[in-house]
Amino acid sequence: MENVRAAHPELEVFYRTPAVRLVTENGRVTGVIGRQHDGTHTLFRAAKAVILATGDYTNNPAMVARWCPDIAEFDKKQFGKTGDGHVLAISAGANMEPVGHTKMMHDFDSALMFEEPFLYLNMHGERFTNEYTGFVYMGNLLRDQPSYKGNMLDADHPDGSKGWYCTVYDSSYMEWDKDSFVDGPVPPFVMEKFIPGAVENPQGVFKNLIDLHRCDTLEELAAELDLPCDAMLASVARYNQLCQQGCDTDFGKPAKYLHPILKPPFWGARKHIRVSAEVSGIRTNENAQALDAAGKPVKGLYCAGNLGGPFFGGSDYPFHQTGLSLGRCYTFGMIAAKHALGML
Ligand SMILES: Cc1cc2nc3c(=O)[nH]c(=O)nc-3n(C[C@H](O)[C@H](O)[C@H](O)COP(=O)(O)OP(=O)(O)OC[C@H]3O[C@@H](n4cnc5c(N)ncnc54)[C@H](O)[C@@H]3O)c2cc1C
Repeated sequence: MENVRAAHPELEVFYRTPAVRLVTENGRVTGVIGRQHDGTHTLFRAAKAVILATGDYTNNPAMVARWCPDIAEFDKKQFGKTGDGHVLAISAGANMEPVGHTKMMHDFDSALMFEEPFLYLNMHGERFTNEYTGFVYMGNLLRDQPSYKGNMLDADHPDGSKGWYCTVYDSSYMEWDKDSFVDGPVPPFVMEKFIPGAVENPQGVFKNLIDLHRCDTLEELAAELDLPCDAMLASVARYNQLCQQGCDTDFGKPAKYLHPILKPPFWGARKHIRVSAEVSGIRTNENAQALDAAGKPVKGLYCAGNLGGPFFGGSDYPFHQTGLSLGRCYTFGMIAAKHALGML
């Protein structure tokens, strides 16, 4: 922000002044009222238009229940995302995207090789999916798997949350055929920094999020991952049997991804899928103008960033295109400003 102000000294920024109401005159949004930190209110008159870019609503349980109940039982990575802009825009006549809101959920932090189709176990130690289904869909699959009380629970889930599972594989993985991987194997010396306590002052990781384990026996691994030992051993034995027969008659994973878990030391990562963002919002057109229920622009009102929609069109954020979320936030913020200024 300081860079922006240096380039545009005329720009005035009001911190700690949340927008609490839009002003509408003769069917046009003409201003916004902000609440100052001392409790007084300030009216900001819009010379051209009001552009809202207040982010998502993941920390507003009522809005989550109404618009994206899929994420209700998962921990959220952010806080203070209360959907203010959605409420303001709706109060001025704008219309929300229909249900089927898109969620961004992931855990890239506990360990690398999050996309590889190793054996996946829920926190009861049971296999629950064809592991080749893909990381992007884990949020959907885990909605129906047991909750778990681990680290980094958010304030709404003190007794446990959804989103937990473990990936398990053995030490033969570096010898597997290249086709056995989606992205490729990462050698043990790189993986080690994801094992809590294994590397002094590990670089490039979040120390509170790494959760990879390497043990000489499966019993020890079960204890480190906090999985019921008997259940995990039974799941591994069944999986090894499927690998031996070369056909996954339980879940249908392609044979090229079937590798028995036999060679110690054994590896296991405990994954914690949390909600990064909710990326659906107020219906907008190609100029980022907010639309009413009839599809007509609400005069004087733009919605950009995660507040604007529709863009993704499905229930899961597509990870295949990196930076898509941020990219569209920047792009439609710029489009909104240019259109409001009559430059488009
Ligand atoms: C851990 C994590 C990793 C991510 N990784 C990626 C990635 O690799 N690539 C990618 O593209 N995206 C990624 N995202 C998503 C991306 O960061 C968000 O989608 C994007 O930042 C949303 O931008 P936004 O401007 O819409 O909202 P926000 O960044 O949430 O900004 C909204 C702003 O509005 C303010 N505000 C809220 N209410 C009011 C009010 N009433 N009045 C005034 N101001 C208000 C808020 O304080 C906030 O400053 C990630 C998100 C997380 C959490």
